[in-house]
Amino acid sequence: MVFRFLQRLTVMNGYRNFSNVGFVGLGNMGNSMAKNLLKKGHKLTVYDTNKSVVMNLIEAGARGASSAEELSKESNIVITMLPTNDHVWDSYTGEKGLLRGAQKNTIFIDSSTIDPLMSQKISIETLKKGAKFLDGPVSGGVVGARDGTLTFMVGGNEDVYKCAKSVLEAMGTRIVHCGDVGMGQVAKLCNNMLLAISMIGVSEVVNLADRLGLDPKVMLSILNTSTGRCWSSEIYPPIPGVIDTVPSSNNYQGGFMTSLMTKDLGLAQSAATRSNTAIPLGSLAHQIYRILMSHGHEQKDFSVVYQYFKNFK
Ligand code: NAD
Repeated sequence: MVFRFLQRLTVMNGYRNFSNVGFVGLGNMGNSMAKNLLKKGHKLTVYDTNKSVVMNLIEAGARGASSAEELSKESNIVITMLPTNDHVWDSYTGEKGLLRGAQKNTIFIDSSTIDPLMSQKISIETLKKGAKFLDGPVSGGVVGARDGTLTFMVGGNEDVYKCAKSVLEAMGTRIVHCGDVGMGQVAKLCNNMLLAISMIGVSEVVNLADRLGLDPKVMLSILNTSTGRCWSSEIYPPIPGVIDTVPSSNNYQGGFMTSLMTKDLGLAQSAATRSNTAIPLGSLAHQIYRILMSHGHEQKDFSVVYQYFKNFK
């Protein structure tokens, strides 16, 4: 209730121009997203704890800030793209953090994948500063980040969302308003849980077919014209040598790391526990990915789960 009331108090007054965009977290995703903002003509200030990635963006035309606080002072819209809950909380509320330098009405958009509850906590802290907050996690991976074709799942006040949309369009092709703060994260976690389940499912059945004597590639082609077809079977098959450009054909390098999928399944698990929701397949998928992590596959693409079944004696 308090949260909704605070949100209503922050309805935007008409259209705003974003002369200064700030970007925090220039890793696998953020580096390309920030470069797309530059390509679309935005004046950009960047910050990352890793100085070498900041230098890379300075060479591309951005201004480097020495802290998140400094970046915040000179930006009227800020995007954060950080690994986990703790990194995001620290970046917003820590010493020399974003909220120390927050200007009244600055819009903060967190595109990291984190717990919806954490997004709501940060939103409350942001509103206390007179600024605004949206959660805007993305799907599309590093390729979508590079090509500017990400999908943004946005949670927060609708007027704030409308103001921020044009900036997100520099980095993505589909920008969807999902509801209140946290609902972008809910959409993201639910999608990734289904993705993990479908990737495990495809891997499991193709391996069974293989063990029974059927060529895995033939099995996959049957799936793709039958009712078992899904993104994991058709676009991103875990079986090496079917599609040259996907990670399974490149020793599971690149793509979406097992460690990130495991993190997202853990977030879905906590959200389900909190809401007393049964997610039997999501829980099992989480445990399977935790086992993959313990077998040293954390840096490999999440489709490596096929190899787990294949090597299971
Ligand atoms: P990454 O680890 O490659 O990059 C994170 C960056 O944040 C690093 O450069 C790191 O130095 C920086 N950083 C960490 N703490 C910081 C702080 N306090 N202040 C400033 N900078 C800090 O991660 P990534 O792959 O770019 O993913 C970022 C987020 O996007 C994650 O939440 C991930 O789940 C999500 N995501 C990733 C993908 C993907 O395919 N990689 C796809 C969709 C969503």
